[in-house]
Formats: sequence, structure tokens, C-alpha cells
Amino acid sequence: MDFTSKEAHEIKDLLVKGEVSSQEVIQFFLQRIEDKDPKINAFITVNKEGALKRAQKLDQLKEKKGKLFGIPIAIKDMLCTKGLRTTAGSKILENFIPPYTATVVKRLEEEGAIVIGKANQDEFAMGSSNETSYFGPSKNPWNFEYVPGGSSGGSAAAVSARMAPLSIGTDTGGSIRQPAHFCGVVGVKPTYGRVSRYGVIAFASSLDQVGPFSLSVKDSALVLEVICGWDANDSTTAKAPVSEWSQNLSADLKGLKVGLPKEYFTEALSEDVRQTLDRAIEAVKQAGAHVEEVSLPLTRYAVPIYYIIATSEASSNLARYDGVRFGFRADFSREPARDLVDFYSRTRGEGFGTEVKRRIILGTHALSSGYYDAYYKKACQVRFLLREDFSKAFEKCDVLMSPVATTSAFKLGERIHDPLTMYTNDIYTTSSNLAGLPSMSVPVELNSEGLPVGVQISASHFEEQKMLNVAFSLEKAFNFKAKRPKDV
Ligand code: GLN
Repeated sequence: MDFTSKEAHEIKDLLVKGEVSSQEVIQFFLQRIEDKDPKINAFITVNKEGALKRAQKLDQLKEKKGKLFGIPIAIKDMLCTKGLRTTAGSKILENFIPPYTATVVKRLEEEGAIVIGKANQDEFAMGSSNETSYFGPSKNPWNFEYVPGGSSGGSAAAVSARMAPLSIGTDTGGSIRQPAHFCGVVGVKPTYGRVSRYGVIAFASSLDQVGPFSLSVKDSALVLEVICGWDANDSTTAKAPVSEWSQNLSADLKGLKVGLPKEYFTEALSEDVRQTLDRAIEAVKQAGAHVEEVSLPLTRYAVPIYYIIATSEASSNLARYDGVRFGFRADFSREPARDLVDFYSRTRGEGFGTEVKRRIILGTHALSSGYYDAYYKKACQVRFLLREDFSKAFEKCDVLMSPVATTSAFKLGERIHDPLTMYTNDIYTTSSNLAGLPSMSVPVELNSEGLPVGVQISASHFEEQKMLNVAFSLEKAFNFKAKRPKDV
């Protein structure tokens, strides 16, 4: 059977009914990876043996139950998997085998999912194009000359190229939504605190969230039901109730107020993104929503604040990679370390890539005495005001609709040597992380070059259902999921 045009929940139904076996499904997707991935590079590690073994076990079960029973899932290499290499896309963790499994992965497995592999990503999730990965960039399945976005580019490409029906990414400043937009898949960043980060390699702890990629809105909603919820191992998780979002989807938007942040609709938007947004706005109106303009006056500060806070937190989080307890250690056999500082510098100097070093230097500077007040503290203050902007906007509307990025996917090599241009790509996504809001990207159409264009929908804290409903409505109106990259 060809599973490439099936959604995850449909494959699960076939498995539960016993119409196909788990081994059949996993073999099919492992074959897809073998055929397609040499050109796409969406995987850093393929869990061939582990996945086959688990499928065999699932096939032996008398009772076939679980929300994701038998579904292959690709996991971004930021999430620890016991016994399975976890690299964060970095040389410094090239051979790191975690001694424990992230709560998210554990929950997915408890509902029957099978980890098919670890997905490629920008190094330590720092990047917007996947080009900072130590394992080489992942390619956009719609056109191999283009980037899949980042930092969860491998996770987005794996689903887009039908190498896995589902995947998991992390989003600190847009890393789920932007690659979803570039690759034509659904990608969701839940409310801050919804999902446990236990076992997730930390980038910027006040911003990081874990979320799903899928072909359909229903599948993402289903994954959210599984991964969201309080976790004793992560004190930042919220005790908010987790609903059956996938069962409550409604494309009828009657009575819903959709806000369009006027600061997002500027000349910076490319023609294709603007046109797609116009059509999406028309579609939600047709579905009964009331659309009005709202204002987020501090939008222009989002990227500067983000790059101060994210780098500051990263500089602290990444201090643990010292070559002493785990991970890569420089070779000191010929020239022994002069002292501890020399030991650290050589290990970290060789183990981290350029972008990670740039961020550690920036963050260390922003936190250093004499600059702390001017940079870090100021950024935290403006962050608070930015949150207020959103609270005010959500007094007027239920959800916000906006672009995900100024453009659709760009070419490999086009921006990697210009960090500032790369950073400004995050203008529409970082605010949701700074404010802790749920936010997602839903694919809408292809542009004239055949590249996907998505739309971003954000809601107030813990209002995932409203956001998912708007996405569901757009999915019904445009049926993007019926489209697929022609070379794969
Ligand atoms: N592109 C942003 C950055 O480089 C976002 C990364 C992310 O969300 N992990 O920091």
C-alpha cells in the first residue's frame, strides 16, 4: 500500500483495524527515506533497527490502541532519545548517546508512535535555513536549490517529502513555523508551558517550545493532545487542561474575530506572501469570521529583543559543553592543555560552529557587567511591554492572522554569510515566543515558482482550539494537503 497520500490518523485507523501491519508501514517509510533522503538530507540518524524492532513488538500486541499507534515519527535532534544518538546538529555532540529519553518522546511512544529517525536542524537550533548544521544543510523538497527553513528544517522536509507522516520540532523564535511555511506543511508552536522540555536540549529556556509538523491540521492537533500537559520533571509546564483538539475542529468561523496586525503588513512583504494573505483573509471572511485591523506598536523591537534575550540565555545554557563530562573533547595527545581555560577554549573552539560562537559571544557581552542594564535588562523590560501589546490586541480579537516571514523559501547560500538579513527573517515569528503565545503556520498555496506559501495564526495563551479552527478552515478552503512536491 502507498501511504504517502494518507494522513497519520488514517494510517493509525488501518493499523488498529489490522488492515495493515506496523512492520509494513515502517518498512514503507524506511524505504522512502532510503530513496529520497540522499538528496534531501532531512535525517541525521535513521533509527532503522530500533524502528523495525518496535514495529514487530506492536504487531504482536493483542490490543492495538494508542492515539498514534504504529505511526512513524521523525524527532528533531534537539530531543534526547535513550540509546539513540542525539547531536543538536553540532560537532560537539556528534557522538552523544543520551542516557534518558525526553518526556515528549516518551509520551509519543506511550501512545504507540515509532521513532523513525532524528531530524536535521541548524546547530543548537540557531538559524533560519538549516545551513548551520554540522551535518550539512537539509534541502527543500519542493526545489532542492532552496532551503527548507530552520531551525527545524529536517523535521519539516521529512514530512513534506513524505518520509514520515509526522515529526517534532522546537520553536524558540520561529523554528517550527518558518520551515513549515517554506516546506508546505502544518507546524504548531503551542503556548509556552504547554509542553515539557525535559530532555530537550536547551537553547533559550524562556522561549523554547516543542511542537508538531504534519500534512493536516487534524494530525497536528492529535500530536498536541499527546505531548501537551504538566510534567513533574519540568517545573515550567502548566497545569492547564489538555483538550481533545483534534475532535473539536470546526471550519465554521461564525462569530470569530480575526485581527490583522497593521505593523506586519508593510512593504517588506514579498508579492507572493501578500497575495496569499489576501486570499486567506477572504477565505476566513467567507467562513464567517469578522476581520479587523489591530495594532502591535512594538513590533519593530521584536527582533532586537529576541536576539539579546535568546543569545544571553544561550550563552548560559551552552556553558555546559566543556568537554569534561560528555560530548566532544579536543585532541590533547600531541599538545597537552596549558591550563583549564586552554582546555575549554580548544574544545569549544573546535566543537562549535561559527553561528553558535557568534551567539555565545553576543550573549556573553549582553550579560556582562556594565552592559547588562543597557542590553539584557532593557530587553526584558521591552519584552514585558510587547506582551502588553498582545493582551490589548486580544481584547479586540480572538486570533491574529499574519505572514510567517517576509518571503517564501530562499536559495541555499543566499543569506548564510549575512547574519543580519538572516535574523530579520524572524520579524513575524519571534514576538509569539517573547509573549509565550500559541502560534502556527498553515500552508495555503504555491507561488508562481512552485514554492509553498503559508499563513501564521496566533491566539491568546492556551487558546489553541481557536487557532487550530482557523487553520482547519483555511485547509478546507485551499486543500493544500492534496499538493505534493513533484520530485519526491
Ligand atoms: N531563526 C531563529 C534563530 O536563529 C529562531 C530559531 C529557533 O526558533 N530555534 O534564533
